[in-house]
Amino acid sequence: MSFGKLLCLISAILLSALSPTLFSKEGFGIEDLINLPPLPEKYESYDYNERIAWLENELGKTHSPAETYRLARELAFQYDWTSSNELILSVCQSNKPIKADIDYRFYCISSIKKSDESKLDKLTLLLSDAIDLGNLSIAAQSLSSMAWIQSSLGDIEQAFRSYEMAMELASDENIYLRSDITLNLSQLYIMHGDGEYFEKGVKLVQGALDELRSKSVSDSLDTIYVKQTLANGYFNLGIAYMFHKPDYREALKWFAKVDPDIVDIRQSVLVFSSLAHTELNEPVEAKKLLQESYETPQSQLSDSTYLLCYQQIIKAKIDMNYNLERCSQLGRDTPLEVQLDIYSRLIESEIIDAKRLGYDRFYALYQNTLKSLLKQNSVKSASRSELNRLQHESRLKDQVIEREKQLAIANEEKAASQNKLTIAIVAVFLLVLLLVLLQLRQKKLLAKQYAQLSLVDGLTGLNNRRFFEQNIDRDLKFVLRDNEGKEDSYLGVYIFDIDHFKKVNDNYGHDIGDVVLKEFSRRIRESVRESDMFVRWGGEEFLLASRVSNIECFHQLADRIVKTINHKPFEVAHDTSLDVSCTVGGIIYPGESKRIASMTWKNLVTLADNALYIGKRKQRNCWVCIDDINNLDLLSDPTNMDLDVAIDSNQVSVTHSMSSAESQPSRS
Ligand code: GH3
Ligand code: MG
Ligand code: MG
Repeated sequence: MSFGKLLCLISAILLSALSPTLFSKEGFGIEDLINLPPLPEKYESYDYNERIAWLENELGKTHSPAETYRLARELAFQYDWTSSNELILSVCQSNKPIKADIDYRFYCISSIKKSDESKLDKLTLLLSDAIDLGNLSIAAQSLSSMAWIQSSLGDIEQAFRSYEMAMELASDENIYLRSDITLNLSQLYIMHGDGEYFEKGVKLVQGALDELRSKSVSDSLDTIYVKQTLANGYFNLGIAYMFHKPDYREALKWFAKVDPDIVDIRQSVLVFSSLAHTELNEPVEAKKLLQESYETPQSQLSDSTYLLCYQQIIKAKIDMNYNLERCSQLGRDTPLEVQLDIYSRLIESEIIDAKRLGYDRFYALYQNTLKSLLKQNSVKSASRSELNRLQHESRLKDQVIEREKQLAIANEEKAASQNKLTIAIVAVFLLVLLLVLLQLRQKKLLAKQYAQLSLVDGLTGLNNRRFFEQNIDRDLKFVLRDNEGKEDSYLGVYIFDIDHFKKVNDNYGHDIGDVVLKEFSRRIRESVRESDMFVRWGGEEFLLASRVSNIECFHQLADRIVKTINHKPFEVAHDTSLDVSCTVGGIIYPGESKRIASMTWKNLVTLADNALYIGKRKQRNCWVCIDDINNLDLLSDPTNMDLDVAIDSNQVSVTHSMSSAESQPSRS
C-alpha cells in the first residue's frame, strides 16, 4: 500500500470514528439498508429491460422507505449501464441519496450533465466523505471526474493534479477504474500537451486498452464494459489524431478499429471518418461513409447535434447540396473543442456564407463562454499568484524578522565587545599614563638627584661653585632688605687658597692632597654657621659668604679661618701630619659705609680675590679684608683695578693680618 493511500485510510478511520451515523430524512440509516433481505435470485438472471421492469413494479408495491430507497438506487445503477443520464437524474431527484451512501451519491452527481463549479463542489464534498468512510474507489472516481471538469473549466494544472491523486488512490483498485482514469488523463495529455505529450497520451491510451483487452481474455470480465471502453478508446485516439495532431490517415486507422456493434458512437465514427477522407481529398470514400452515417440511427444517449453540422461541412466540401443552418443550432452541451473545430472549419471554408457563419458563431461563443472562461482563468491565476505572493511575503517577513533579530544580537555583541574594547583601551591608557607618571616621577627624582649632584663637590661634600652662583644674589638681597629695616647687616664674602698646595701633591702624592682638601673643608665647615654658604670654588680655593653684624665680626671671622687651619697640623696619614696654612681675601657687602650696595657678586668675588692675591704676594698664612670702596667709579669695573694703588690712594679701605704681627689685624 502506498504512503498516500495509507494516509487516506488513517484519516478515513479517524474521521469516520468522529462522524455521527448518517440517516435519511425518513429515519433509516445505512445499517437498515444493509440489513434488508437481498434481491431475489431471479433478479440476477434478468437482462437489462427485465430488471428495469421488475424494479419499477416493486417500487409501485412497497411502502417501506428503506426498501423504496434500495430499489430506486438499484434502478439508478441499472440506468448507469446504459449511460442514461436523464433517467438517473430523475431517480436521484425523487430518491435523494443519504450522506453515507457514497456510491449512489457518485452515480447521482455523475448524471449531472453540466460540468460547472457547482458539480465540482458536489464532487469535492463527496471526495472528502468517501475518504472519511474509506471508500477509495469512489474517492478516485470523484477525483477523476473533478479533473475532467477542471480541465473543461480551463484549470489544466489542477486537473493534472487531481488525476495524479486519483491514480494514487486507484492504483490497486479494479482495472476498470484504473483504465478509466488513465484514459481520461491521456485525453488531457492529448488535448492540452505539446507534440511530446500528445505521443505520451496516445501511448497511455494504447497501454490502457491493451491491458483491458488482455484482462478481459484471461479474467472473462464483463464484455459489454470492456467492448464499450475499447471502442471509446479507439474512437478517442482517432479524434486525437483528427483534432489535435491533425493526422487524418492515422485517425482513420483508429476509427477503423472501433467495434461497429457499439451503436452509441457508430454514427460519430462514420461522420468523422468521412470528414477525414474529405480532408485527405478522397471524396468517394467520404461520400460513402457520409451516406452510411445517414443510415445509422442517431444516438439517443448524448447530444449529437454537432454531427449534423459536420455532415453539412463534409457536403459543402465535396460539392454536394448543403445546409449550414445545422451548424448554427448546435446543442448547448456540445463540447467546447468541438464548437471551436466546427467554427474554425467554417471560417477556413471558401464559401462566403460558411465563413460569415463561422465568424458569427465564433464571436457568439466568445461572448457567451470564452470571455467568462478567460476571466475565470485569470481570476484563478490571479488568486493563485495572490496566494503565492502572500506566502512569499510572509516568508520574506519571517526572513526580515529573523535578520533583524540576528542584527540586534550582532549589535548587542558589537556593543559588548566595544565596551570591552573601550575598557581595555582605557585600562591600557591608564596603565600607560601610570607608567609615564611613574617614569616622570622617577625622572624628577633622578633630575633632582642629578641637580643635587651637580651642586655638590664630590671630594669634600661641600656645595660647589654653581651652588654659590645660584644662591649668592638671594643672600645679597637679604642683606639689603635687613638694612632697610635700620638693622645693621653685612655679608662677608671670603675666598681662601691653601698655601703651597702644589708641594703637598708633589711631596706626598695626589691622594694625600685630597685628604688635605677634605680636612681643610671640614675644619672651616665646623668653624662657621650652618647657614653660612661655604663652597669649593675650584682646586684648593674655597668661598665663604657669611652674615656679619659689623666690620669687626667680618675681620674676626677671617682671622678665625686662618687660625682654624694653621693652629694644628693636618693628620693626613697614619704616621704623617702636615702643617697647612691658607690665605684669605675678603670683602664686606655693602661696604662699611654701605655705599656699595649696587656691586655685583662677581665684582665682589673679583675684589676678594684681589685682596687674597695681595696676601699671597706679601706674606701667605694671613687675611686681607676690603672694608669699603671710597671711589665709587671703581664699582662699575674693578677687574682692571690695581688694588695696591687703590689702597695706597685711599680709594679702597682695607684691614689685614699681614706684617710682623701676623695675628694683629692692621688697617691701611
Ligand atoms: P700658592 O701658595 O701660591 O697658592 O702655591 P700653590 O702651590 O698652592 O699654587 P697653586 O695655588 O697654583 O696650586 C694649586 C695646586 O692644587 C695645583 C693642583 O695640582 C692642585 N690641585 C688642584 N685641585 C686638586 C685636587 O682636587 N686634589 C689634589 N690633590 N690637588 C689639587
Ligand atoms: Mg690656588
Ligand atoms: Mg694655593
